[in-house]
Amino acid sequence: MGAQLLDGRAVAKARRDLLAARVTQLQERGIVPRLSVILPSSDEASLAYYRAKQRVAEKLGIEVKGVTIEAPTTDAIVSQIKSWSLDPTVSAIMVEAPLPPEIDMEAVRNALPAAKDVDGAGIESLGRLLSGQPTFPPATAVAALALAESAVNVAGKHAVVVGRSLVVGRPLALLLLAQDATVTVCHSKTVNLPDIARRANLLFVAVGRPGFVVGDMVAPGAAVIDIGTTVVNGRLVGDVDARSVASVAGALSPVPGGVGPLTTTILLEHVVQAAERAIG
Ligand code: NAP
Repeated sequence: MGAQLLDGRAVAKARRDLLAARVTQLQERGIVPRLSVILPSSDEASLAYYRAKQRVAEKLGIEVKGVTIEAPTTDAIVSQIKSWSLDPTVSAIMVEAPLPPEIDMEAVRNALPAAKDVDGAGIESLGRLLSGQPTFPPATAVAALALAESAVNVAGKHAVVVGRSLVVGRPLALLLLAQDATVTVCHSKTVNLPDIARRANLLFVAVGRPGFVVGDMVAPGAAVIDIGTTVVNGRLVGDVDARSVASVAGALSPVPGGVGPLTTTILLEHVVQAAERAIG
């Protein structure tokens, strides 16, 4: 029996229809939700993600505006973030990775104000997530959980998250805990990772290695959420070997068409929510 396909595009479309109505309500009050983005100057993949976001946003009536800082320094980026923080016409702020290695990311994260930090990258947002206060968690982590929840009730289930980055693995583990899953986090030093993965009811994979998870690492009937995105020969591929996993898993998210498209929609939901919260 083949796994149920977790269609991120379909879930995203349904959520965007609801979002469009909220944007209209804001427009009726003269408010345009606006996301201001600091862009890396040259990373093509990152600029492609930005343009894709802009296209989706435009259809919804949300403004996405990027600024490229020529020869960026930590001070220049922090000062741009501070200026947007004080600007009432800017609903939301994000910094598109990757920034040059000489940039002090901790200073950048410290500068992001939780009220406008719609991709949950700031220290304040991460602290709020850890302590269970309302905040915007990183959009990819929210999207991965939402896609799993479109098929499975996560409460009480054993969720295994492979990957512990600040943008995906760690926040996802916290979101799963908040939904009463029992959570195991694996990483590059984990011993016997396949054994741990086989004990998962829900397996989330965010490693960045194509084909990392194969069928015999998956329990029969488990839901497998593939967060990985790597371009191989011009094609986007995930971390899961879909061919071997689909015959074992109960549900599987594809790449492309799974977590990726839903991430964009979740981010734009956060932008609209930030604009709504700003007017009380
Ligand atoms: P990252 O910062 O490079 O983190 C990768 C994680 O995988 C690390 O925790 C690392 O462990 C772990 N890892 C690496 N090799 C491993 C191995 N052999 N066994 C077990 N764990 C291993 O990457 P990221 O930013 O989290 O992104 C992960 C993937 O998700 C990438 O493909 C990225 O493109 C994709 N992504 C997708 C979206 C989306 O919207 N769909 C958004 C963001 C990222 P250590 O901590 O021990 O090094």
